[in-house]
Amino acid sequence: MPEITRREFLKLGAAGTAGMALVPLANPLGFDLAPAKKRALDLRIAGAKEVHSLCPYCAVGCSLIAYTKEINGKAQLLQIEGDPDSPVNEGRLCPKGATAMQLATSSRRVEKPQYRAPGSSKWEEKSWDFMLDKLAQNIKASRDNTFVAQDANGNTVNRTEGIAFAGGAAFSSEEGYFATKLMRSLGVVHIEQQARV
Ligand code: SF4
Repeated sequence: MPEITRREFLKLGAAGTAGMALVPLANPLGFDLAPAKKRALDLRIAGAKEVHSLCPYCAVGCSLIAYTKEINGKAQLLQIEGDPDSPVNEGRLCPKGATAMQLATSSRRVEKPQYRAPGSSKWEEKSWDFMLDKLAQNIKASRDNTFVAQDANGNTVNRTEGIAFAGGAAFSSEEGYFATKLMRSLGVVHIEQQARV
C-alpha cells in the first residue's frame, strides 16, 4: 500500500468534502439545470416591453430595466433587473435596488396619502388637496415662528431656522436647482442633498 503523508491526507479530505458539499447544492440529480432556468426566464419576459429607468433609492443612480406586458387588457410589471449596458452598475444592483419591484407590487405599499392629526394615534386617509394645503400651512407657520431677521450682533440674516430640507437621490440637476431656489426664497439655510450624505 503506498504511503501517504499527513499533508496529502488532509488535502484529499478537504477536496472530497468540498466536492460532496457542492454537488447537492448545484446539481442534486446530476442534471444541468441552467437551460431550464433560462427557458423559464425567457418565457416570463418573452414579448414584454422593455422600459429603462433608475433606481430611486440612492445617489449611485443604478440603471434598471423594467419588463411590462399587457395581460387581460392591463399593463403588468413582470420583472425589474439591472441594466447591463449601464456604465454605472453594469447590470448589477445592491440588495436594496434588487427589491425595486416591490415598490410597485408589494401588498404593503401605501397608495393614498395618510394623515395623523396632532395627538392622534390613528392614520386617516386624506386627499392630495388636503395634504398639500396642510403642508403649505405648516411651512408658513414654521417660517413665521422661526424667522430670524437679525443675529445677536445686529447683522441682517433673514433666515428660517425651523425648517430643514433634504433633496432626494433621484433629483436631476434641474430639480436640485429648483428646490434650492425655493428653499432659499423661504430663508431656509439647512439644505442638504442625499448625494452628499
Ligand atoms: S441599486 Fe443600490 S447602489 Fe444602486 S442606486 Fe439603488 S440603492 Fe443605490
